[in-house]
Amino acid sequence: MLKVLKFGGTSMADADQYRKIRDIVRSDPARRIVVVSAAGKRFSDDNKITDLLYLCYAHLQYGVSCDSIYAMVRERYCSIRDELGLQTDLEGEFAALREKMEHGISREELVSRGEYFSALLMAEFLGFRFIDATSWLFFHYDGTVDQEKSYAALCALVGEDGCAVIPGFYGLMPDGKIRTLTRGGSDITGALAAAALNADVYENWTDVSGILMADPRIVENPKPIERATYSELRQLSYSGAQVLHEMTVFPVREKNIPLNIRNTNDPSHPGTLVSEEFHEPRNMQKGFITGIAGKRDFSIVTISKKGMAGAVGTLRAIVEVFENNTVPICYTPTGIDVLSLVVPTEKLAPHQYSIMDDLRSEVRPDSIKVTDNIAIIAVVGRKMAYRAGTSGKIFAALGEQGINIRMISQGPDELNILVGVDNKDYAETIRVLYNAFVK
Ligand code: ASP
Repeated sequence: MLKVLKFGGTSMADADQYRKIRDIVRSDPARRIVVVSAAGKRFSDDNKITDLLYLCYAHLQYGVSCDSIYAMVRERYCSIRDELGLQTDLEGEFAALREKMEHGISREELVSRGEYFSALLMAEFLGFRFIDATSWLFFHYDGTVDQEKSYAALCALVGEDGCAVIPGFYGLMPDGKIRTLTRGGSDITGALAAAALNADVYENWTDVSGILMADPRIVENPKPIERATYSELRQLSYSGAQVLHEMTVFPVREKNIPLNIRNTNDPSHPGTLVSEEFHEPRNMQKGFITGIAGKRDFSIVTISKKGMAGAVGTLRAIVEVFENNTVPICYTPTGIDVLSLVVPTEKLAPHQYSIMDDLRSEVRPDSIKVTDNIAIIAVVGRKMAYRAGTSGKIFAALGEQGINIRMISQGPDELNILVGVDNKDYAETIRVLYNAFVK
């Protein structure tokens, strides 16, 4: 049994957090591979180490002294080391890095050092081996990860039942230079490590007890999602939920490895388990709805043309107009002889007149109508497919509250039901739906 754990910035923020991590790792012998972020915020207006390193680089660029910012980075790590009674030679490390900065360090190398120092300290603290990301996470020249080479390298380094700490967020280019992933990229490193080692589970430890069923800024104390399928996770993140980036889940999903999102500050909470599928009774009342997410600022472009439903090629012509104008289409609710395309307003706005013009000449519609200020809210749940009356409940709940539904659409996989409402009704719609389905 192997569990790969990734700890985010707040979990790595100070010595107390390191102690919590040690307890978590020691409580389960399968927890052998630990991927770490740079130290994050200890309190709300604290600094993230990665941000400070970006700032250091900007100072270097403009020839302004970065000494005081650099000292903040050094002090943070030295204080963690000293408080934990560790021996890592950080003075030597920081002096060598400073020297390198004088002679033209790359931005990516400098900002990657937060994860590097975190991993050095955590490896000593846990008594695990330090495996640098540069010794296994390899990129192609185009910036994508060379999975085959990386996976083989990590397997060889870890061996049968090795224990190791690995810095997240960066890897090596074919020319030997350090390259970073996107911001928040340690999640991806963790997923890649779990996939490389064929882990039984990828535990992503953060500061919340899993993915919440709705945005906590809108719904008071939303419940965490106990279980979600990877498809539901995709629906929720596409619809606006702040959950792990798709790139993150891709390597583990590809290998059918479950993802467990956990809270370092509440380790006994089971968090959210994400898996390809669950074997569970379909008519289970509990957990009927998985989550509710939404986004504001969509436009609905409604095109009507008599006979469109039976005509050949009209749909293609419409879609091609949007494609030629590089406007992505998010949803396409249809009627008879009428089609709506739901697109983000900010993407449509610069091309709106050209799209109208092209539609007129290519499609010759009877009418085109654009409705702005629309919010789209998705009710997501794998069990909805087996239950009658879900959309009825949505209509009833919103109708009772006087919320006007401007659009409704159900995904063909029956994983979600989408409602479009006016932007101004966005938050209230989420609250009403949460209360109707979850409370
Ligand atoms: N430290 C990096 C960032 O702040 C990567 C990470 O934490 O995942 O984006």
